[in-house]
Amino acid sequence: MKGIQLAGSLLLLTGILLLLTLNHKVSSVMAIVLIIAGVLCIIVYNLVIRKETNLLCRIGLHKYNHVGWDEEIKSRSIYRCERCQKEKKVMRAI
Ligand SMILES: [Zn+2]
Repeated sequence: MKGIQLAGSLLLLTGILLLLTLNHKVSSVMAIVLIIAGVLCIIVYNLVIRKETNLLCRIGLHKYNHVGWDEEIKSRSIYRCERCQKEKKVMRAI
């Protein structure tokens, strides 16, 4: 499965480079096709590999809610995704 992720990243990168370096009409259409193909590969990879139950969570679109503060470091707040319960800790700038 790792191959799909790599192929996706390469397609995406190639597409972006094409878009940036060439402004010929045909090339930009090709570049956009490459970018879409790359994004699709990465999404498919994430859908297969990740274990989150929600489809949006699997492609990384979590819905975080602030649930409390970290006990060790007081300026660190804890967020939890309301769909898959995944937690993340974020340092607050003072
Ligand atoms: Zn989630």
